[in-house]
Amino acid sequence: MSNMVGVLGAGQMGNGIAHVFAQREYEVRLYDVFPAQIEKALKTIEKNLGRQAEKGLIPAESVPAILGRITVVKDLSGFADCGLVIEAATENETLKLDLFRKLDEAVNPGAILATNTSSIPITKIAAATKRPDKVIGMHFMNPVPVMQLVEVIRGLATSDATFQTVAGLVEKLGKTMAVSQDYPGFIVNRVLMPMINEAIFVLYEGIATAEDIDKGMKLGTNHPMGPLALADLIGLDTVLAILTVMYDGFKDPKFRPCPLLVKMVNAGYLGKKSGRGFYQY
Ligand code: NAD
Repeated sequence: MSNMVGVLGAGQMGNGIAHVFAQREYEVRLYDVFPAQIEKALKTIEKNLGRQAEKGLIPAESVPAILGRITVVKDLSGFADCGLVIEAATENETLKLDLFRKLDEAVNPGAILATNTSSIPITKIAAATKRPDKVIGMHFMNPVPVMQLVEVIRGLATSDATFQTVAGLVEKLGKTMAVSQDYPGFIVNRVLMPMINEAIFVLYEGIATAEDIDKGMKLGTNHPMGPLALADLIGLDTVLAILTVMYDGFKDPKFRPCPLLVKMVNAGYLGKKSGRGFYQY
């Protein structure tokens, strides 16, 4: 596979994915439809690399070279020569299907097209392309430079060769893979989202404050963060989108999003990224 990796979408996940590939000596091409997002992403990557250097995790003198391996491209044609493109745009099915149709046209036919979707069927995204055998889910966790896991999801048509290449890449990134079949929410969100949603119901029903809910789960079950703080970190729009995909996908009321979550997203309270969610930032 070519050493060039495209990252489509420079939000919180896209910047982390660009960061880890550049750190492992891949040439990264980064694109976002909003130039302001690119600027923010590059600043975030620089800040996070600085933090890693301060902690002694990487040599400080390696930072400029890592940053130098990230090139911003102005449209999808900038991904033409990539061996792999990872899509990390907003969690919206119509948008992702459209992006994969365009990626399929823009990127050399031998390249693997991966999606970081949290919940949208890989099989459906793959079917929007003429290379469904080369489409796969690479679901990184947030924050990408810190979290060890990559969920790898095979669509119905994903080939063994594609899967083996991606498994090798995960190892080269120094991360660990968990393999999931392609059903809504895969492994991690299938288990995590109902818990977050239930925590929001506990708040909605006036049973406890956000602080006490999070305290309960942190100190009572040894979670490193409470479910509401985690929801703020993930982004409440993303949480709602994932729950909606699982609700629609399984037709099971256990995945119905809490009305308070819907209301907060309608208000633009999206969590940390917008400055306000269950907490103020
Ligand atoms: P985000 O809102 O931070 O970033 C999304 C980015 O996509 C934005 O910068 C936006 O400008 C860009 N975008 C939107 N339309 C685009 C287009 N047409 N072309 C190019 N860029 C476009 O969201 P995020 O949290 O980074 O999530 C991105 C993906 O990663 C989603 O599929 C999400 O489900 C998944 N994911 C999120 C988390 C999390 O904790 N936030 C964890 C794992 C996976």
